[in-house]
Amino acid sequence: MRVITLGTGAGRPTLSRNTSATGLEFKGETFLFDCGEGTQVQLMRSAFHWGKLSAIFIGHMHGDHLNGLPGLLGTLSLSDRQETLKIFGPPGLKEYLRLLVECKNLWLRFPAEIQEIKEAGILLDTAEYQVETALLDHTIECWGYVFREKARRGHFNRQKAKLLGIPEGPIRARLVHGEAVTLEDGRVLKPEEFVGLPRRGRSIAYCLDTQPCENVIRLAQDVDLLIHEATFDRNLKKEANEWGHSTAADAAEAARQSGARHLLLTHISQRYPDEAILLEEATAIFPKTTVARDLGVYSVEGSSVEGTMTMEQ
Ligand SMILES: [Zn+2]
Ligand SMILES: [Zn+2]
Repeated sequence: MRVITLGTGAGRPTLSRNTSATGLEFKGETFLFDCGEGTQVQLMRSAFHWGKLSAIFIGHMHGDHLNGLPGLLGTLSLSDRQETLKIFGPPGLKEYLRLLVECKNLWLRFPAEIQEIKEAGILLDTAEYQVETALLDHTIECWGYVFREKARRGHFNRQKAKLLGIPEGPIRARLVHGEAVTLEDGRVLKPEEFVGLPRRGRSIAYCLDTQPCENVIRLAQDVDLLIHEATFDRNLKKEANEWGHSTAADAAEAARQSGARHLLLTHISQRYPDEAILLEEATAIFPKTTVARDLGVYSVEGSSVEGTMTMEQ
């Protein structure tokens, strides 16, 4: 599972930070959270495999999270994409895209399934993962998301299987799937003798834009990675409240209270060319904090006990 931060700035693009967009790669599928202006150029620059894009989640209608969507959809229409693309977002998103199509600004040549969010709950539920949404607290309606991998099967003990002379193939497959197997020589193999305990699924919460609210804590409960906005530092707490945003300390507090394992700060205001002040403020409350930068790649690995996040570039 990899997270790729495509745009990490707030409000407007700068030469070092594009507007909001974050990619997620998971078992051959890819997902996009927000799509600020210029996201498709960032996609081209990035390591993100966006040809396999399954779904886009838009948090709210502010331009710095949305203005890149028409351009991206236009480009996908120029490719030979046939697969359905799911697009989730707040009420108004469907009409916004319909108007662009109607006035010939946007040409959609592949099936796009646009779902406006009416209430909190599960948006996607497959055998492998779930995506849930809940309302955040911003100046306009704004939705946060959590992507949760379902519990994974335990590791298969190949060494033990080899020692006992169990060949690769159907017998091992049956054990992996929890079936007991009787061998021709009468030996009975039990799956629990070869397969370890189920492993916790990995999870990522995406919460921007928002001021501190209960739903962030709920969405980010025990996640491996909380991606949270930090538009201001604590000296500008009043401004943060006024504009429906968080400080780095607010984000760190949310990570601490939710039991998140790692925190990735994003939506960084252009007033911080040096983000050290935000990092220092957050790590004092929540040490496992990273300030995201554009085109950063973060691997999220989990085990039954603890997840790890490593920076690839
Ligand atoms: Zn924003
Ligand atoms: Zn906003």
